[in-house]
Amino acid sequence: MGFNIAIDGPAGAGKSTIAKKIAAKKGYIYVDTGAMYRAMALYLLREKATPDEIDEKCKGADITIGYDNGEQVVYLNGENVNPYIRTEEVGRMASVSSPNPRVRKKLVELQQKLAADADVVMDGRDIGTCVLPDAQVKVYLTADSHERALRRYKELTGKGEACDLSTIEKDIIERDHQDMTREISPLKQAQDAVLIDSSHMSIDEVADAIIALCAECGKK
Ligand code: C5P
Repeated sequence: MGFNIAIDGPAGAGKSTIAKKIAAKKGYIYVDTGAMYRAMALYLLREKATPDEIDEKCKGADITIGYDNGEQVVYLNGENVNPYIRTEEVGRMASVSSPNPRVRKKLVELQQKLAADADVVMDGRDIGTCVLPDAQVKVYLTADSHERALRRYKELTGKGEACDLSTIEKDIIERDHQDMTREISPLKQAQDAVLIDSSHMSIDEVADAIIALCAECGKK
């Protein structure tokens, strides 16, 4: 097993930004598991799957991961879908389809394979609790919902996407509720995870705090 860092937390807590930063600083591979659930959601949206059809239709999605200049690329049936998965619509569908056991089994196996031999920093909802229970460093990263909505708003408007702050906050709260109350692999802090509230911390402060946790585990 490589050195594994697991970062879990609610939507918009800064997990991917922080994980990417740590990966770049330490030369680890960044694994964005949310992107895999989003690729599955995109497939189901394109297939116009109703909630009842998710279990059957998800079988048609082959999701694989590649790296281009250190950037994770998600392939859906061979197509690079990175440009299409970052919308609120896909995020909502990901939250609806991710509780499906068949969807999770498929993606968790892929995630565990990626972490088996490499030093990885992986972010998601169930990494410390289910995917990598033996990860050397586990972090539960959160921030208050208004702050998280504001960050998402800036990210989306920065990309030129029209959006509304209060709708984003409502969506985030709803998605968190769905992710935290589902039966299979709900979002929760692993018993041995360190809680970091990033509401009043900069990206670098959070990244440095996690790198310090790695050093405590003897990882240079
Ligand atoms: O992190 P991101 O917003 O990209 O995740 C989208 C959705 O995918 C989450 O709301 C959650 O329902 C699902 N997800 C999950 N398990 C993970 C990562 C994401 O269920 N490890």
